Amino acid sequence: MKSKLVAEHLNLWFGSKQVLKNINIEFEENKVTALIGPSGCGKSTLLRSLNRMHDLYPEARIEGQIKLDGREIYQKDVEVTDLRKRVGMVFQKANPFPKSIYENITYGLKINNLLADKATVQKALEEAYIWEEVKDDLKKPATRLSGGQQQRLCIARAVALRPEIILMDEPCSALDPVSTLKIEELIHHLKKKYTIVIVTHNMQQAQRVADKTVFMYLGEIIEQGDTHQIFNNPQHETTRNYISGHF
Ligand code: ADP
Ligand code: MG
Repeated sequence: MKSKLVAEHLNLWFGSKQVLKNINIEFEENKVTALIGPSGCGKSTLLRSLNRMHDLYPEARIEGQIKLDGREIYQKDVEVTDLRKRVGMVFQKANPFPKSIYENITYGLKINNLLADKATVQKALEEAYIWEEVKDDLKKPATRLSGGQQQRLCIARAVALRPEIILMDEPCSALDPVSTLKIEELIHHLKKKYTIVIVTHNMQQAQRVADKTVFMYLGEIIEQGDTHQIFNNPQHETTRNYISGHF
């Protein structure tokens, strides 16, 4: 299997506080990788470092390497807009633009100089399993959709840019169980085309969607491997304690 994205000896500090410690990880193409671990262990920070969201925090300092298709993403000549187009992000709280459903898709397309016609919008909405629910009223403000629909719209907005990787930070934690299962179904469908990294607090969710699971604790990767192995035969006591709820 080909590794699409690789982090090597990654360390990250916010001011004097080290938040990521010697992270070594490979994200394989067309696989779902789940990042799990207690609050504050660095999951979101690791996820955000993968598309250089840290450029937004002046106090962040990073060492080590992250390579996308073998090319270092923190090099000066890497165009961040292009990188974030290739490595899309979906957040915990669905954050559609305060615009119509249609414009939520076309906005990013236009910024990235991509064709923003009706067929492209339809394709993105279909790919995110939301087209049937919204096709009759694409002018409706996105904020009037349900939470689950808003999150699928945000996924549509990300896939419209034809990314290679989709990063998802607890995409279901604000959703009800039915909406959550719909997103999980969608993730199964999306991985045929994309490489997916998902942060989740939901152990069942990790087991349902992830091929590989990574357990983090205090900024370090304690254990990573095949999801079935991590949950059924964890090698470290800390992992065992966490997945059995003794934390
Ligand atoms: P998780 O997603 O696993 O809950 P985070 O990656 O959000 O953890 O946070 C890891 C650690 O980094 C926490 O101690 C958090 O307080 C700290 N942190 C996160 N973002 C910042 C920031 N912008 N400035 C300073 N500290 C931060
Ligand atoms: Mg987080």
